[in-house]
Amino acid sequence: MIMEQLLDIILKTNKSSNQILREFVESEKLLWPLAAANYNGLKSVEEKQFQFDGFQIKVQFNPERMRSSAAKVDKQSIAARKCFLCSENRPTEQDAIAFGDRFLILVNPFPIFQTHFTITCNSHIDQRFIPNVKSMLEIAAAMEGFTVFYNGPECGASAPDHLHFQAGESSFMPIATEFEQLKSTARQLYSAAETQVWAFDDYLRKIISVETSSLDEALRIIGIYFTYLQAMQPEKIEPMMNALCTFSGEKWTIHLFPRKLHRPSQFFAEGNDQLLISPASVDFGGVFISPRKEDFDKITKEDIEDIFNQVSLKQDTFQKLTEKIRTDLN
Ligand SMILES: [Zn+2]
Repeated sequence: MIMEQLLDIILKTNKSSNQILREFVESEKLLWPLAAANYNGLKSVEEKQFQFDGFQIKVQFNPERMRSSAAKVDKQSIAARKCFLCSENRPTEQDAIAFGDRFLILVNPFPIFQTHFTITCNSHIDQRFIPNVKSMLEIAAAMEGFTVFYNGPECGASAPDHLHFQAGESSFMPIATEFEQLKSTARQLYSAAETQVWAFDDYLRKIISVETSSLDEALRIIGIYFTYLQAMQPEKIEPMMNALCTFSGEKWTIHLFPRKLHRPSQFFAEGNDQLLISPASVDFGGVFISPRKEDFDKITKEDIEDIFNQVSLKQDTFQKLTEKIRTDLN
């Protein structure tokens, strides 16, 4: 079956990509009962929020995300299951819009966002950041209004064996609105005509943020970041990280979240001490996903601080990383 290209649909219909993608979700809901039920369920999903110093963390109770939060991603479990991103195993109702000759945009049937996509590679290759980050930036540029995100193979990807990104409407994650204000309090690592880079130390999680109108500059800076982080985690298949990428007003905003742990101790605790929270890009963007009602009800501000503290780089390591990047860039 030949998929239509997003860019061809834009030319043919004269609609914005945003409108086309929203209509795509609506058309999937009409012919795919599972997607319809889960998107309708999202309208009544419970949310609460915690206020920190100048920023917010939301918590969403979303039982349909259990399969993702609790996904077994060890080698044996992955080898024993059929890959749900490979075309031969996908539900027949799941349509696709092509992006270039390597990626397909799919409606995610287990949404966190009102408009939630999985952007999957059309071949079964491993989840890796650097060989595919250029595609991520290009996809973000074609999907204005949406944030494209990457979960590392040991940082929340439930299919670490099949390359994919996800995307959802940018306005949903608090970081999108907080960033403009918070960057005045961040450490600036680099400033040039078309590019700025900041480090966030005091935001519960550690973030390196890049704002640039140049694709080449974005790739250069991300490459430098990745090389230094990789040198700090030589035993890993790739350094532990999540990333968010948005394109707006002719420039990219990229948030890089270097990590040291996949799941916090609360995930493995028993009884009342357990919190089934498995942080990935959306959690780092400011929305904790809680698939169990009991966890949603009992999670506290202190739990959120503690979870971010466990999975993010320590301040001294982050300081070393960002100083190397600063020196290299300047
Ligand atoms: Zn696959």
